[in-house]
Amino acid sequence: MARSTDPKCKQCRREGMKLFLKGERCLTEKCGIERRAYPPGQHGRGRTKQTEYLTQLREKQKAKRYYGILEKQFRSYYEKASRRTGITGENLLRFLELRLDNVVYRLGFAASRAQARQFVRHGHFMVNGRRVNIPSFQLRPDDVLQMKPGSGAEAGIRDATDLTASVASWLQADHDNLTGKVLRHPDREEIDTPVQEQLIVELYSK
Ligand code: SF4
Repeated sequence: MARSTDPKCKQCRREGMKLFLKGERCLTEKCGIERRAYPPGQHGRGRTKQTEYLTQLREKQKAKRYYGILEKQFRSYYEKASRRTGITGENLLRFLELRLDNVVYRLGFAASRAQARQFVRHGHFMVNGRRVNIPSFQLRPDDVLQMKPGSGAEAGIRDATDLTASVASWLQADHDNLTGKVLRHPDREEIDTPVQEQLIVELYSK
């Protein structure tokens, strides 16, 4: 499955904020944003003319990078979101939040979405008692997630839970037994993703 291979800290520096793509390192002074808080590249410190298009584009790129997905899949989430009733931008964020790799990360079972994606790809998690190794798998309310018994990733998963200060309110996590549950669809105010989703909708609906 395709994923971005761009250097992670460069992605944060391009968006001008911490996107927490590298797990524990993001919490230290080694963080790329802490050390070089300007965009990457030869002209990184130059002035860029802000246009409406550029603002919308950056917001979309930021969301893609935050969730670690590529343009084609991101666009297809937008199209599905626009066909749903309700506010398209919020529907889009809900689709992204309910991806299995994101839920593993939000439950605290991985230190980053990239690590969550790897755990899922390698079959370390089960949903409702069945092994699922598709990072984009969409979870639904009442779905129960658990680490596969005997998983070789248990130590890494437990290390990640130690880094987790809190779990999203629409999820329930049991860090001792390494299980979790989706309680409901998240409301917008329960999603702390630092994007203005309306700008993404404006960009795609041009
Ligand atoms: Fe982003 Fe983490 Fe790199 Fe900091 S350490 S720039 S938050 S990926």
